[in-house]
Amino acid sequence: MSTIFSKIIAGELPCFKVYEDEIVLAFLDINPINPGHTLVVPKKEFIDGIETDPDILAHIIKVGQKIAQAQKAALRCGGVNFLMSNGAAAGQEVFHTHLHIIPRHEGDGVFNSVAHDKYQNGEAGGLAAAITQAII
Ligand code: 5GP
Repeated sequence: MSTIFSKIIAGELPCFKVYEDEIVLAFLDINPINPGHTLVVPKKEFIDGIETDPDILAHIIKVGQKIAQAQKAALRCGGVNFLMSNGAAAGQEVFHTHLHIIPRHEGDGVFNSVAHDKYQNGEAGGLAAAITQAII
């Protein structure tokens, strides 16, 4: 048992639980982007979403959808972000798969600084083909 989330799942560290079943535990993020920000975490340890058993990943998403519906009802938020960072380069800090369910409110400014780029002529086709060819 190596991650802080495994310690929470084992009951060795406290959390504000939102939902639990035999596969996942969902609890409030300790440093919320918005109030009610919830993490859905598989009880079995996987380093990130890319390495996670696909059936378990599907269950994480399924539970995330239920929590998003509950957030909309309970928090009156207008929208919800699903976010999963996979790998340090993607901003992952806790290396135990988790899906962020982030309640959003009109004009809350979250993610405002995310910049989108444009492709140069001919660039996109090559990239799409490279990814397609690498799918196994
Ligand atoms: P990441 O950057 O890996 O996608 O997100 C990790 C998240 O875990 C962060 O949003 C952080 O606030 C949250 N977190 C880290 N340690 C704890 C903890 O001990 N308890 C809870 N509830 N959340 C934590």
